Amino acid sequence: MTLTPNQVRLMMLKVADAIIAAEAMLSQADRDLGDGDHGLGMKRGMEAVKAQLDPMNPNSVEQVFVTTGTAMMASMGGASGALFGTVYRAGGKALAGRTSFDSEGLALLLEAALEGVMKRGGAKPGDKTMIDAVAPAAAKAREITALPLTGALAAVAAAAEAGKEASKDMIAQFGRAKTLGAACLGFPDAGACSVVIMLSTMREFVLVAH
Ligand code: ADP
Ligand code: MG
Repeated sequence: MTLTPNQVRLMMLKVADAIIAAEAMLSQADRDLGDGDHGLGMKRGMEAVKAQLDPMNPNSVEQVFVTTGTAMMASMGGASGALFGTVYRAGGKALAGRTSFDSEGLALLLEAALEGVMKRGGAKPGDKTMIDAVAPAAAKAREITALPLTGALAAVAAAAEAGKEASKDMIAQFGRAKTLGAACLGFPDAGACSVVIMLSTMREFVLVAH
């Protein structure tokens, strides 16, 4: 099972709607640890993504993901705009030349996203950032490229969820949460919550698309 560029476009529109719908939850997660603006920032980013993807007739998978990242970067501003923008821009570029999206593409996307965001932001696994959801998702995706995309996305979304849960036990080394020290224990990272919503929504999309 593979997705055409247009199906990837429809999948990302569904991801955008899911993030917009989760605005309050994401802002609460950021309020527990940071300044409480994560949901609003992501909503702004996803509205810009929708404006770009709605009229698009994509001829490559790369184009859909890179456009998503560029729209987030341009509209969200701040650290997380650059970081989430990098996730999709770096991830999308790794798919250059591919005319469809499959389990191997998912692994390439997540590996390049992880590498890009680590290079850009300087954080590593265990620092209580979105990386704690992206890294286990990327590792799982690489492990199971032989599975059909539906099965691969189910396992990858579960790995991201487990990573988000594990972030509750981490002490933040980046962002405003850094100043909280042990007071941030028990709360998941907000960016990791966004990553879980994105991957779970991709999973839901492929379940109904096939
Ligand atoms: P801001 O930090 O500007 O308020 P947001 O609240 O939108 O931006 O996003 C915060 C999220 O950004 C965090 O929950 C974390 O997942 C992510 N983040 C912050 N710094 C880094 C970093 N250096 N590397 C990766 N992700 C980061
Ligand atoms: Mg914030």
